[in-house]
Amino acid sequence: METILVLTHVDESGAALTKASLEAVTAGVELARELSAKLTIGILGVNATAAAAAVTATGARILTASDAAFAQARYATDAAGFEALAHAAQASLVLAPGSARVARVAASVAHRLGGFIDTHITSLSSNDSVDATRWFYRQRVEAVVNREGRPWFLLLDAGTHAAYTGEAGAGEATVEAVAVTLPATRTTVEGLRSPLLDAQTIRPDAKLLLVAGAGWTKKQPDGKLHVAEAGKEILDFLRLTGASLGSSKSLADQKAEGAGGEQSVLPFLTHMNQIGQTGSTPRHAKGLSTCCHGEEPHVVGWRFIGDRRAISLDPNCGWTRGKADVVYIADAFQVIAKVNALLEARGA
Ligand SMILES: Cc1cc2nc3c(=O)[nH]c(=O)nc-3n(C[C@H](O)[C@H](O)[C@H](O)COP(=O)(O)OP(=O)(O)OC[C@H]3O[C@@H](n4cnc5c(N)ncnc54)[C@H](O)[C@@H]3O)c2cc1C
Repeated sequence: METILVLTHVDESGAALTKASLEAVTAGVELARELSAKLTIGILGVNATAAAAAVTATGARILTASDAAFAQARYATDAAGFEALAHAAQASLVLAPGSARVARVAASVAHRLGGFIDTHITSLSSNDSVDATRWFYRQRVEAVVNREGRPWFLLLDAGTHAAYTGEAGAGEATVEAVAVTLPATRTTVEGLRSPLLDAQTIRPDAKLLLVAGAGWTKKQPDGKLHVAEAGKEILDFLRLTGASLGSSKSLADQKAEGAGGEQSVLPFLTHMNQIGQTGSTPRHAKGLSTCCHGEEPHVVGWRFIGDRRAISLDPNCGWTRGKADVVYIADAFQVIAKVNALLEARGA
């Protein structure tokens, strides 16, 4: 008989669960129902007890690990906190969000409990065994994995489950505080400095992914480069739509190589923006590819995009024609400038 622990953590507020944590709660509730298994939810945070209100309606046993030390992600303290929660729960299956915070410590926590771990899980189901699905080979091959060993830790990819939305404070759940013995720490965090919001172009929670290809920095029909204009149109589009920015490898490489000569570059792009076989495969409801011809961004980078559209000057581009739902054979400079003007006029 399986028992399930959902390991979660709070967001920057210190008292509310992250979206990815709430997605893991949904996965736990669904799997517990399928298996008729006992469900426990473990929460780590500065004020984990306050965050617990969001999941009391699940009817699960709730364990909290609260401490000022959890105000920031830190390997030693996070590992100790999650380990204490997992020990208290004694579960055979441990589901957790594949967030940077959890991913950093989860393998260690699994090891400390004598357990096993699999990552990038996209769905869970149960027949005779518990089956977990994940992608391999840059999202080209989908596999179903199961294990006999327990406890089995499963890190879930963000965006694969709906975030749990039960009524806050509903239900009869009792919240149990778990004592954590924290290791000595040598580092004091005095504050955080983060980039300005409009400097952050990678937005995993955005509904739309704008893919920029190398065409933006190539000679245009007038025989000239329009790189400054390209940068402005792309940044305006991101500001007006809240979209996330993906890039083809050709465009990202121009920056990495410090492209000199004729080829100027877009300064806000890094390899973190690159999508495709050697980039990422983000999940967004919609995608708009612009000035992009490549196979890898369209076939692999777009793997998990729902509704796909492309703007290209090339009517014979097989990848946009093959992978986009709608292809506009048009000049992306003109189209995006017009879209930006319409959005600006609408007060977006
Ligand atoms: C092992 C390997 C791994 C790779 N991994 C990746 C990867 O992860 N991601 C990736 O992206 N690539 C990857 N590549 C590279 C990939 O094969 C392509 O070379 C690359 O994606 C092409 O980038 P691009 O489409 O932006 O540029 P280009 O091929 O130069 O295409 C530019 C397009 O823009 C169009 N265009 C120009 N101006 C305009 C305009 N004004 N309006 C509309 N359209 C316009 C042109 O018609 C052209 O179709 C990989 C290659 C290899 C060999």
